[in-house]
Amino acid sequence: MNRLKGLIKKIFMKVCACCSGKMYEMCCHIFINGITYPTTAEQLMRSRYTAYALCEFAYIINTTHPSTRRQYSSKAIKEWAASSVWKKLEIISTNKGTSSDAIGYVEFKAYYSDSEDQNHIHHEFSTFKKIDANWVFVEGKVC
Ligand SMILES: [Zn+2]
Repeated sequence: MNRLKGLIKKIFMKVCACCSGKMYEMCCHIFINGITYPTTAEQLMRSRYTAYALCEFAYIINTTHPSTRRQYSSKAIKEWAASSVWKKLEIISTNKGTSSDAIGYVEFKAYYSDSEDQNHIHHEFSTFKKIDANWVFVEGKVC
């Protein structure tokens, strides 16, 4: 019976929304569910994208720097995330943002469609910083 349960779990385990090619359970799940913290700015960026895709709003707010959190209303985040179908994440470039840095930059394109089924590309240049040892999103410039 346990073998069957294991098999069923395996079949239903999904590839992570962040397009890493890894299973969700082995990828953004561990960050979104607080099992561990991202060690790079790119990991945080990817997990925030996945949080949008899965409507995990608390994670998006909690990983936004307190100094800029007010600029990103949770109502607007919820509406954007929930009304969109998140299709693909493409990391264009990263600069710094490794485990030994205090600042990091990630340029990405997020592909999504809106409630009217129109396709969009959100192209952003994001800045990340560390609070204590943990990466947080500071701000994003739309390219
Ligand atoms: Zn992922």
